[in-house]
Amino acid sequence: MVGISGLSDAGLRAGSLAVFQMVPLMAGNRLSFIADFMGLSYHCLRYLHSSVGVMAVAQTVGHIVLMSRVRRFNLEIVQERFGILAGGSLLGLFLISLPFVRNVLHETFLKLHVGLAFFMFYSLWRHMGAERHTLRIALMSALGLFAVSSLLRGARIIYRNFTWKQQWARATIFPGNDVMEIQIKVPRPWVIKPGQYLYLWAPRVSYLSIFQSHPFSIAWWSEDANGRATTMSLLVEPHHGFTNSLRHKSNLNHSFRVAIDGPYGRTVDTSRYNTLVLFATGIGIAALMPLLKSAIKQSKSATTLVKRISVVWQLEEESDERWVASWMNKLLEEDNESKILFSSLYVAQRFDNDEDEENNYKGKVPIPYGKRVKKLFARADIREIMAKEMQERRGRTLVAVSAEGKVRDTLRKLMREYIEKDVDIQELDFQPHGWHKKEMVKHKGVI
Ligand SMILES: Cc1cc2nc3c(=O)[nH]c(=O)nc-3n(C[C@H](O)[C@H](O)[C@H](O)COP(=O)(O)OP(=O)(O)OC[C@H]3O[C@@H](n4cnc5c(N)ncnc54)[C@H](O)[C@@H]3O)c2cc1C
Repeated sequence: MVGISGLSDAGLRAGSLAVFQMVPLMAGNRLSFIADFMGLSYHCLRYLHSSVGVMAVAQTVGHIVLMSRVRRFNLEIVQERFGILAGGSLLGLFLISLPFVRNVLHETFLKLHVGLAFFMFYSLWRHMGAERHTLRIALMSALGLFAVSSLLRGARIIYRNFTWKQQWARATIFPGNDVMEIQIKVPRPWVIKPGQYLYLWAPRVSYLSIFQSHPFSIAWWSEDANGRATTMSLLVEPHHGFTNSLRHKSNLNHSFRVAIDGPYGRTVDTSRYNTLVLFATGIGIAALMPLLKSAIKQSKSATTLVKRISVVWQLEEESDERWVASWMNKLLEEDNESKILFSSLYVAQRFDNDEDEENNYKGKVPIPYGKRVKKLFARADIREIMAKEMQERRGRTLVAVSAEGKVRDTLRKLMREYIEKDVDIQELDFQPHGWHKKEMVKHKGVI
């Protein structure tokens, strides 16, 4: 190693490298904000953040092991005491970031993560002492980046949610089977681009919701004369925390105060492609609807090269098609002249009996999709579907995906052989977790 002349030097070098890794790790408290700034996807930045974090842990372990070979720890020395505290908080950060903690207690993880990171920062500062100028400058730049990104984010939240006429955005919940629609009226409309999502803060939903905000894709919107979205809809699948509290509020028949933080997300420009293949499982359809809506709008105004759009959607239950039925019908109607939109719904579970159907469909209009929508009672065979799509495609093709992990893995593998043949694959910022599979298909056939 260059410039290293012994264990002590190597230990100090490992420690210094760990401190330098802290700069990108502490650059902001909202990964989506940094991801947009760097032009990366949310997931890509999350992996990057985890990888740099793991490297920092490895270098810290190296630092501790090597320094302990050179001299004995003396906890009476303040600097060494803070060294132990910094190492301990980094270990804590590592442990709470393991998937089984992060996924199960996400909110607790987020709060602890930020708290431990600040404690580690302070401990490191005290551990290094005044003579380590370069390292202290590195830590100060991390703090500076954190402050600037937080200020910019705060300013955008105020800009988006407050005008002289309207303070706060207002949300109304429309309950549905399994998934609810949250309609948000925003004080300051903007032109929505496909691929955007926002963080929703709804302080009155539960005692703890004041401390939380959650990301949701903008699934649909209505526009003013300038094409800016005045009201937008989110499709929300309830889990156990904030989304479950939202579900309990779904019997409210009045709107309530919310704030939005966003929009975030890499926008997807579909107009350069001739064929779009949109692949979703379950609630993933929420992230794909905007691509569909904007592609049909562009097709009507002849501002796109798209000649064929194929939507492949794997649903768990037949009634799930209600989530987007009215929007899908609207798009099919708008596309009546060009007829570029085709859709295949793969339904894993059909209603078992009339009572189920009656309960789920009560008071709702039937779905008059028409011939361009095919409904199959089977699980989607991705290999077979993609082989067919690749045969039928015309020219440059975009495969956009918002689907559970297994489906994405298969698609990625399949797409490798087409990469050189004008086919791009894009995984959207929202990727649903594998949905709970109930029963396997009882009926098969095509409607
Ligand atoms: C970019 C993006 C877009 C999304 N769009 C949608 C959408 O359109 N519709 C939809 O139903 N869901 C969407 N989600 C998922 C949604 O954010 C979570 O389901 C929601 O935050 C769960 O809240 P909860 O407190 O009820 O979760 P919990 O019951 O506590 O946990 C359920 C799951 O959600 C994850 N989760 C919890 N909080 C967050 C958070 N703040 N950020 C990310 N994940 C979290 C947990 O890791 C866990 O896997 C999106 C997620 C991302 C990252």
